Amino acid sequence: MVKQFIKNYSIGDLEDYFRSIGEKEYRAKQIMIWLYEKNAASFHEMTNVSKKLRDLLDGAFSINALECSERMISEIDGTEKYLFKTHDGHYIESVLIKNEGTEDGRLTVCLSSQAGCAMGCRFCETAKPGFIRNLDTAEILDQLSHVRRISGQRNNNIVFMGMGEPFMNYESVMRAADIMNYPFGFHISVRKITISTAGIIEGIERFIDERRPYNLALSLNDTLPEKRERIMPVEGRNPFMEISDMLSRKFPTSRNRLTVVYVMRKDNISMDDAKRLKKMFRYSRIKLNLIPLNQGSHEYRPPTDEEVDRFVQELEIMNVPVTVRKSFGRDIFGACGQLSGRRYATREGSDNGLNTI
Ligand code: SF4
Repeated sequence: MVKQFIKNYSIGDLEDYFRSIGEKEYRAKQIMIWLYEKNAASFHEMTNVSKKLRDLLDGAFSINALECSERMISEIDGTEKYLFKTHDGHYIESVLIKNEGTEDGRLTVCLSSQAGCAMGCRFCETAKPGFIRNLDTAEILDQLSHVRRISGQRNNNIVFMGMGEPFMNYESVMRAADIMNYPFGFHISVRKITISTAGIIEGIERFIDERRPYNLALSLNDTLPEKRERIMPVEGRNPFMEISDMLSRKFPTSRNRLTVVYVMRKDNISMDDAKRLKKMFRYSRIKLNLIPLNQGSHEYRPPTDEEVDRFVQELEIMNVPVTVRKSFGRDIFGACGQLSGRRYATREGSDNGLNTI
């Protein structure tokens, strides 16, 4: 019999399973507490479950869907990057970011939702091998189990900002987020789980219509459609103006928190850009998260500190709420997709210039 990955099962699925084998429903919560809160790596650790049931579960299910291939720790800021191998030989990554010294001392884990990515953002190393496949819920949750077990740290914040576009794998990502939030799952507050998208209209609309309680982050990076499409081809089928119109209609009545991510380059921080940002989100409660572009081997030019300050001031004068964020883990390939991108390059025997954004 082929073993199933037990982390693909929601609480309802596990209750159905236990009923089907003549066991009590409460077993489902008991097993989930072992899987997530206690982060058990084997059914044999589950000491309040009978030996007979542990053996049965061990024959039917696997706990871990991933294998950890590499862990790198930044000497600059302690950021940890993990490279995981899936059961069919693909590589995905997760990052543990230690926001020490920030207002709430967050410990954030950045998760992947797909192996590869079809979005083709120009600045992203993940885009280079293209889309491989969606991750299932077990592969998403297992990233967090491994990071917690290996680092010995219990994070309190999750962002779906690693490899892949979460709204192109909607069902598995939402199921994983729900299990993270269960009191007998990882028990992470809905306010501490953020779905980050390059801007898929259909996914954002569904997310709001279904009243999903998680935070939403939108990656904008340019205010002019033709310029944005050059760096983010997703703009072609998902014009940001349509997203902003839809948000103006729907977002004010939703409970979600919306962050717009804007990586600052020398050529996207003019006074006109600031005015267009103000106009785009005039009816939405947004927080604009500004990230100065890192100097790297890419074709884009980073802004000077003075240019960053001027842009921030212009937005503040227009009452646009902004935060400026630093990038983490620069010495270990700190941006989305770069660690696994490097592994793909190594497998193909080439070293094709690692971008940093
Ligand atoms: S930045 Fe995100 S959405 Fe864009 S290609 Fe990279 S992984 Fe995909």
